[in-house]
Amino acid sequence: MLQGVNSETMLYTVIGDPIRQSKSPLMMNRAFRETGTNGVYIASHIRSAQLADFVTSARVLGIRGMNVTIPHKVNIMPFLDILDESARVIGAVNTIVNDNGVLTGYNTDGIGYVRSLKEEVAPHLAGKNIVIVGAGGAARGIIYALIRENVGSIVIANRTLEKAEELAMQFRALANISAIAMNEFATVCAHADIVINTTSVGMFPQVDETPFDVTLLREGTIVSDLIYNPLKTRVLELAEQRGCPIHGGLGMFIYQGAFAFEYWTGKPAPTVAMREEVLAALTTL
Ligand code: NAP
Repeated sequence: MLQGVNSETMLYTVIGDPIRQSKSPLMMNRAFRETGTNGVYIASHIRSAQLADFVTSARVLGIRGMNVTIPHKVNIMPFLDILDESARVIGAVNTIVNDNGVLTGYNTDGIGYVRSLKEEVAPHLAGKNIVIVGAGGAARGIIYALIRENVGSIVIANRTLEKAEELAMQFRALANISAIAMNEFATVCAHADIVINTTSVGMFPQVDETPFDVTLLREGTIVSDLIYNPLKTRVLELAEQRGCPIHGGLGMFIYQGAFAFEYWTGKPAPTVAMREEVLAALTTL
């Protein structure tokens, strides 16, 4: 992998704590190889107290591109020079571009999710009625990106109603958006075109849990889950048995990385190869 490293090689990294579980280095180095990009992408274990020093080091070393993961997505923001609209609205950064020392922060999670949803199951989102289960950071990014697609309506259903209400309030000037408690979920199912699980319910090791009752859904309602471990969650299995098209979380991971790659290099991301690389790593765990 390091064969082509020379004095022109650009450095890229993902920072997080912990970080050794990250599949981003495998995915991004594959993307560099596929496109003949002279870059190396590493994983950096940065603790919260080291964040300021990291940013100084990134400027000094001229690290061209960075991804940011838990727990630094919010705390990195004050250290950056420019925040893209995506980062400002969502309130978190997962991608940084370094242009000769000027650091710009982006959030590609929501747009990555929507690009995957459109390519895999729902090419036309305009006018669709969407139900989002969960009201955390991932839901916020997805709502931002769905609104840009001119969806018809968004209902946020969450265990803690207040959090769903806060989120709906933030976007109410931009969309037909409302909030309900989880026990009202049945009332919105008849009109839902797409139901998206943004909670962690069903994620490994709690693989038998489901965030909502799929028997309430109409046949044909698209069911999407942000979780990619397991690749097909229990709720997706049950939805598929019910005749619903399904969409798993792997695409979101691939496409948030694809947007980052494109911002850094200006080249189209080799998404098929990136998916192949991550899938191979996940299935040999
Ligand atoms: P978060 O900010 O912590 O939000 C978690 C949400 O899940 C909250 O709405 C919470 O409800 C709900 N929740 C948690 N446990 C629950 C339970 N037992 N029953 C009902 N609701 C529960 O997390 P996040 O960052 O948004 O991430 C959410 C999920 O998205 C995770 O599974 C994460 O792995 C996945 N994700 C995937 C990708 C990808 O690339 N595919 C990217 C980002 C995130 P309350 O408000 O009531 O606490």
